[in-house]
Amino acid sequence: MAKEELECSFCGRKKPETNLLIAGLDAHICDRCIEQAHGIVIEESKQTGNSELSAELMLRKPKEIKAFLDEYIIGQEYTKRVMSVAVYNHYKRLLQPPSDDDIEIQKSNIIMVGQTGTGKTLMAKTVARMLNVPLAIVDATVLTEAGYVGEDVESILTRLLQAADYNLEKAERGIVFIDEIDKIARKSDNPSITRDVSGEGVQQALLKLLEGTVVNVPPKGGRKHPDQKFIEVNTEHILFIAGGAFDGIERVITKRLNMQAIGYSSIKSEDHVDDDNILQYIIPKDLKDFGLIPEIIGRLPVLTHMDPLDANTLRAILTEPKNAIIKQYKKLFKMDEVNFTITDGALDYIVEKAIEYKLGARGLRSLCEEILTEAMFDLPGSGETKLNVTKAYAEDRLSKSTLKKLKAVS
Ligand code: ADP
Repeated sequence: MAKEELECSFCGRKKPETNLLIAGLDAHICDRCIEQAHGIVIEESKQTGNSELSAELMLRKPKEIKAFLDEYIIGQEYTKRVMSVAVYNHYKRLLQPPSDDDIEIQKSNIIMVGQTGTGKTLMAKTVARMLNVPLAIVDATVLTEAGYVGEDVESILTRLLQAADYNLEKAERGIVFIDEIDKIARKSDNPSITRDVSGEGVQQALLKLLEGTVVNVPPKGGRKHPDQKFIEVNTEHILFIAGGAFDGIERVITKRLNMQAIGYSSIKSEDHVDDDNILQYIIPKDLKDFGLIPEIIGRLPVLTHMDPLDANTLRAILTEPKNAIIKQYKKLFKMDEVNFTITDGALDYIVEKAIEYKLGARGLRSLCEEILTEAMFDLPGSGETKLNVTKAYAEDRLSKSTLKKLKAVS
């Protein structure tokens, strides 16, 4: 066929009448027909409940989800496995066709218990990144402070809508990470928590969201909806991930473990309890004893714990994840044509300091900033093309910084 005779095999438009004409084996399709066809596919998939998103999600098996998490998160093997299965099941639930049996797959909302800085937020962020769904990170303590529970709960969904760029369909399949869920535990069962009944009020309000309900959400500053006062958001398919440090829960767990040991002779003395990581023995009852109401615990059926970060883990966090801190600095320096290197000795020193100041993983970044700020100020434009950070260099920089400032980060 001569070039000027090319036409769209669907609508018959000649090539000059189209913006783009794509060739297939024996046919051509123009840009307009592609758009129309795309629209039909979306419509069709909405009707069968099999949206584009769903099709994409089905491709990821738990092992693949775990492999993705491995790229960004060091250690935390148990949580990564649990998370992979929970996320997989959650999206399988979304995909289930209307069935004639009465088996309804329930939501697999997750609760992660672990010290601050062990990667709970990172876990939620990474899952959202992998699924390409919007993520709202909210702090449960804020919900308590304002007091007006109804409004506050809606604000969680406002955040999610914002994260989804006001695309309701996307928001309704998003992820909400509720941080510091332990801070809304009831006071009575836990003397270390200063909040009182308000905590239980917030828990009650959260319950509705976790269960799945339709909430009228004020779009708050959403300029795209000037006439629309409220947006109805259905939380049925939103995945909720809660996280908290639950300070002092180790005592609850230890107490239970001791009682078990006394109560049941079947527990053998060689069942060694790992005192350095008591959290691994956590069960839902411990959360109840800590002060979460049973209904909330029931709505967060997947319970997992984060392991404390030891020196090896911290060391790996510095260099190994896909966007590891050191890799980020390398990139930053490279933009100024500076080849940044750091010795093993310097890396070990940073880890040592992070542990010494009890800064955890979050402190690694602050330490690196302290060490590198001067170089990041001086080198650009200086003509210098190399920076090698040794232990001595790191020590020197830190000795000039205010260590108090670093401590405040923890
Ligand atoms: P949490 O939510 O438990 O307080 P974060 O997820 O905010 O902790 O972690 C703080 C920072 O520490 C993260 O931004 C991340 O860079 C780093 N980090 C913590 N744990 C890990 C981990 N297991 N693997 C990689 N980075 C981690």
